Amino acid sequence: MSTPRMVLAECERAGIDLVEYVYRLEETRHGHSRSAVDAHLDEMWSLMTQAMERGLAAAGMLPGSLHLERRARDLYLRFQVKLPHFHILSPEAALTSIYAIAAAEENAAGGAVVTAPTCGSCGVVPACLRVVQEKMACSDDEIRQALLVASLIGAVIATNASISGAEVGCQGEIGAASAMAAGAVCSLLGGSPRDQVDRAAESALEHYLGLTCDPVDGLVQIPCIERNAAGAVSALNAASLALISGGGDRVSFDAVVDAMWRTGRDLDARYKETACGGLAAAKGLGD
Ligand code: SF4
Repeated sequence: MSTPRMVLAECERAGIDLVEYVYRLEETRHGHSRSAVDAHLDEMWSLMTQAMERGLAAAGMLPGSLHLERRARDLYLRFQVKLPHFHILSPEAALTSIYAIAAAEENAAGGAVVTAPTCGSCGVVPACLRVVQEKMACSDDEIRQALLVASLIGAVIATNASISGAEVGCQGEIGAASAMAAGAVCSLLGGSPRDQVDRAAESALEHYLGLTCDPVDGLVQIPCIERNAAGAVSALNAASLALISGGGDRVSFDAVVDAMWRTGRDLDARYKETACGGLAAAKGLGD
């Protein structure tokens, strides 16, 4: 897989957008027809939506030693009756957090989720796309296109750096998911590939550089579930800033992907999914 700049250069050379780039790549590299790609995307979106729906409806304890109560259903009910604390955020940001938590809790419960790019970060992309779809009444085809852009960004990060918490820390999971969602939302709302989509992905990933992977008791629950909410809301912020500002970044997405990879290699093993450092080793947890 090419670097982000190489992808953009290829799009400009061929006079195509990022969505068309992925369709052509799927065809030439994997022999997948457009209709096959579309059917796969529809299935992924359906599974993402089902995971959020199940998460919003389920109550009770998540499995494992932390005895963590599910929160998405309760948060959603409180949001619907407009309890005052939700007024601190826009309704869209609050809902994005709730949807992300719903999907992440489904993952923690062993339910079916779509890796985007990983199970631990599975709530970020669907939460952002669902909120934008609800607000802007996006068509199924627009959601497909947004998923293609998200997948392209994820593939670029995976092949030029990593999407594994065990390899580079959580910057490779929540950081990558946030970049995927930011770029996808930016594209969905009409952002230009080089000046806005690239910038949205760059900005989203940049602010997660160095993020440690330190799941308490080795369970993908604390901090992972809330981290999906944080990654989703910051993705919307990155997309919004890129759309408003219209380009002119000082740091390229290539540079951030490279920095993420180098930072990940420098991270001590305690911060790479071993549950031996950071929050996982904090005193007083569970008091
Ligand atoms: S803290 Fe680790 S396990 Fe949890 S979401 Fe981040 S990378 Fe995944």
